[in-house]
Amino acid sequence: MKYIDEYRDADPVQRIAQAIRRSVQNPWNIMEVCGGQTHSIVRFALDTLLPSEITLVHGPGCPVCVTPVECIEKAIEIASVQEVIFCSFGDMLRVPGISNDLLSVKASGGDVRMVYSPLDALRIAAENPGREVVFFAVGFETTAPANAMAVLQAHRQGIGNFTLLVSHVLVPPAMEAILSAEENTVQGFLAAGHVCTVMGYEEYEPIARKHRVPVVVTGFEPLDILQGIHMCVRQLEEGRFEVENQYTRSVRREGNPHARNAIEEVFRIVDRKWRGFGAIPRSGLGLREKYSSYDAEDRFGVARLEAEEDSECISGSILQGTRKPHACPAFGTRCTPEHPLGATMVSSEGTCAAYYRYRRA
Ligand code: SF4
Repeated sequence: MKYIDEYRDADPVQRIAQAIRRSVQNPWNIMEVCGGQTHSIVRFALDTLLPSEITLVHGPGCPVCVTPVECIEKAIEIASVQEVIFCSFGDMLRVPGISNDLLSVKASGGDVRMVYSPLDALRIAAENPGREVVFFAVGFETTAPANAMAVLQAHRQGIGNFTLLVSHVLVPPAMEAILSAEENTVQGFLAAGHVCTVMGYEEYEPIARKHRVPVVVTGFEPLDILQGIHMCVRQLEEGRFEVENQYTRSVRREGNPHARNAIEEVFRIVDRKWRGFGAIPRSGLGLREKYSSYDAEDRFGVARLEAEEDSECISGSILQGTRKPHACPAFGTRCTPEHPLGATMVSSEGTCAAYYRYRRA
């Protein structure tokens, strides 16, 4: 197949849904890791095509949603410094910190700019040698290569007024944390196809073996997701716990070596705090010593800033797959995409935003 419509064609979608119904004999909880997959599931009502034995659990794979509130506070503090041009992808600008967000800083006169790439921020730094340019480097393994390339290019070109506020997170440690939690109900995973396009899927093999869970690397279109679920169900019914690749048109076992090399050169593995999860050991990326001069936390002295998350928002439970948005008393009333209380309502990939848009009733 070549065109996106073919991956949304109702006939093959119905055929795979039937094949799933024929394969399933026991109840299973399957987590789709990525927010993009959650969005497709809710948008195309794929879960309504599944037999009642299968429960889909929405996972933590939305980078905006898992960026901890203290990192938003650091961004706000840095962006409020007069000489700073603070650059970010658009969806981070509305994520609520304790009492503010980056758009409010912009409204109060801060130089906060929306960019489409870290290289845009690097260009702004080259054009404004008298200013400090900071790029908000959030995301999973998918955005890390471009951020690594920006640091390498700044290093090569001797651009010293460019730094990153880094809050990169990694998928496999989050899966480990979910599986190790006492209240875990997840029995199988749809892994995120774009993350595996970069990193490959070797890292998932020990997780599948240790926790006896199938992991199916899966794409984002309706046919991809249903095929991933079918592969996962077949493993569960047959008592197999392997890593399989549904997204073969993009993913190879070893991933993209050039992207992995760039990440390896610039970043090291660090402990990282996740919104809703707390600290997860070795679950993030930080700059290596060699590139520490590009670290905005050090340059602006915000590394030790700490902040507590809003206790009213249950996005932590939603990100861990133990509750769904309708369980939140604020859903659709006090918390909407126009006035979000929590991160899972801000991002278009957030579970609360997907439910609000497609399943409010
Ligand atoms: S609806 Fe809003 S307050 Fe409730 S969990 Fe979702 S983001 Fe948090």
